[in-house]
Amino acid sequence: MDQLIHRREENGLIYYTCDTITTPHLFTTKFGGVSTGYLSSLNLGFNRGDERENVLKNYQILADHFGVPRERMTMTKQVHGDCVRVVDENTMGMGLGQPMSWQTDAIVTNLPNVPLCGYYADCVVTLLHDPVSRSIGVCHSGWRGTANGILAKTVHTMQEQYGAQPENIEAVIGPSIHSCCFETDADVPDAMRETMGQAVEPFIERRGAKYFIDLQGINRMRLEDAGVKKVTDSGLCTKCMHDEFWSHRATNGRRGVQAGIIMLEGEQS
Ligand SMILES: [Zn+2]
Repeated sequence: MDQLIHRREENGLIYYTCDTITTPHLFTTKFGGVSTGYLSSLNLGFNRGDERENVLKNYQILADHFGVPRERMTMTKQVHGDCVRVVDENTMGMGLGQPMSWQTDAIVTNLPNVPLCGYYADCVVTLLHDPVSRSIGVCHSGWRGTANGILAKTVHTMQEQYGAQPENIEAVIGPSIHSCCFETDADVPDAMRETMGQAVEPFIERRGAKYFIDLQGINRMRLEDAGVKKVTDSGLCTKCMHDEFWSHRATNGRRGVQAGIIMLEGEQS
């Protein structure tokens, strides 16, 4: 674990924060919610076989933590694409304050008191904050999104929409499956090489017929190529730490889902 990352506990809610992100944010763990059984206890997915009421209570716990109405929390709907959507007055609360009507793996906003939620159970969730333009983003990248450069597209969207300068952006790469555990066939490195060429070779290790991929290293490279210099990798592997985090691979898919959440503070509107 990077020394800038801290494990925190508040009334049973266990989460991780990063010192370099200067706005409210966290990465959730399994712990602090009301779900039961294999979803015990802070499952944030409505499609994991959980009672809807339990999931809503779990979001309420997080809304209380951030000090905002639950209806303002805004969800991605992750489809392993490379789309980035803007959260404005019309799309705020997507998935909670209003019915889910988009498919997007990354969202950005400059609205205060609107927590942005991106989801993981091995995939990489990255939180972004530009304190100068006062804008934020959350980006989900599995291997497909990583190959397609969705994280750089999220940075570009913050530039276009809010005038964010990449050198001002603070980024943290959340708990996710690391190269110790991310074993793949040739399809994954092939997809990476197709979009990134030789640059991706340092992040691919071949062992016999299998490959081990450093998704965090590739995402850091994509951020740095986009001009973002303040990048922290949590260093937390969800599969190694499957007692703390749901790992898709460690559970064969019988699991809940965690979120990386980030918010701008401001006058309550
Ligand atoms: Zn591992």
